[in-house]
Amino acid sequence: MQGRPVALVTGANQGIGLQVAKDLTAKGFTVLLGSRNTKRGEAAAKDVGPNAVALQLDVTDLGSITAAAVRVRKEFGRLDVLIQNAAITTTSDHHAQTPQEYVAANRPSVVSLDELRAVWDTNVFGVLAVYQAMVPILRDTPNSRIVNVSSGAGSLTLASDPNSPMHASFDATYAASKTALNGLTVAMAVELEADGIKVNAVSPGYTKTRMSPGGTDAVEDGAAEAVRVALLGSEGATGTFTHATFGTIPW
Ligand code: NAP
Repeated sequence: MQGRPVALVTGANQGIGLQVAKDLTAKGFTVLLGSRNTKRGEAAAKDVGPNAVALQLDVTDLGSITAAAVRVRKEFGRLDVLIQNAAITTTSDHHAQTPQEYVAANRPSVVSLDELRAVWDTNVFGVLAVYQAMVPILRDTPNSRIVNVSSGAGSLTLASDPNSPMHASFDATYAASKTALNGLTVAMAVELEADGIKVNAVSPGYTKTRMSPGGTDAVEDGAAEAVRVALLGSEGATGTFTHATFGTIPW
């Protein structure tokens, strides 16, 4: 695996993250499959093939993040691409609620603060903690980049438009966590401009996974934009928010 560029994908043991890992190994990367559960990560890495390595990484556990960064530095000495993909919508059973029930339970007036904190811990603070641990390695790797996997659900422009389907479904928990992630994306892009490190947000679209069993797109489609942005040339953009077919999404 010596000499190959290295990508780390968080939450890569299933869903869109797993597909991104498959696609990046096909593009010549050694891919570190971040997984909070070691066994699930190892099974996924085996499924992806010889250029995949399981990396225990719970984005809500600082000890796990620090150990992962030490391992990346020691075993690989570089990090060309960081894909921040891990996220949750709820701490309870994903299939228990319809999307309408989810939105109703996560309106600002009724949402459980504990539930909201737990979701933001993964989707917002977890992303920032992984960023802080990995930035020194990214800075030491020429032409490195970060892709934050966001969602069109986090767009304040769409949420504020009464004619958009995102308007009525804008909830305080998941959707607003992706808005916060978008804010972090811009802050990271501004910070890393001088280093030449690109930081972009992508929306996979409504993709059939454990998180979205009713999704209309296949994981291959959901992974496509993260992979495209991960492979942008050195002249490519930073601080953008895009979808594979819709192009630029308004913040
Ligand atoms: P998924 O199938 O539920 O996969 C989520 C992944 O994140 C799993 O591997 C999960 O690990 C991992 N994860 C959760 N909490 C974690 C933690 N604390 N530490 C590390 N990993 C953790 O969901 P998905 O649909 O592939 O979602 C991937 C990304 O796309 C997310 O950022 C999501 O918000 C975004 N997205 C998805 C859709 C969609 O329609 N599917 C639409 C827009 C945006 P476990 O297996 O251990 O639970």
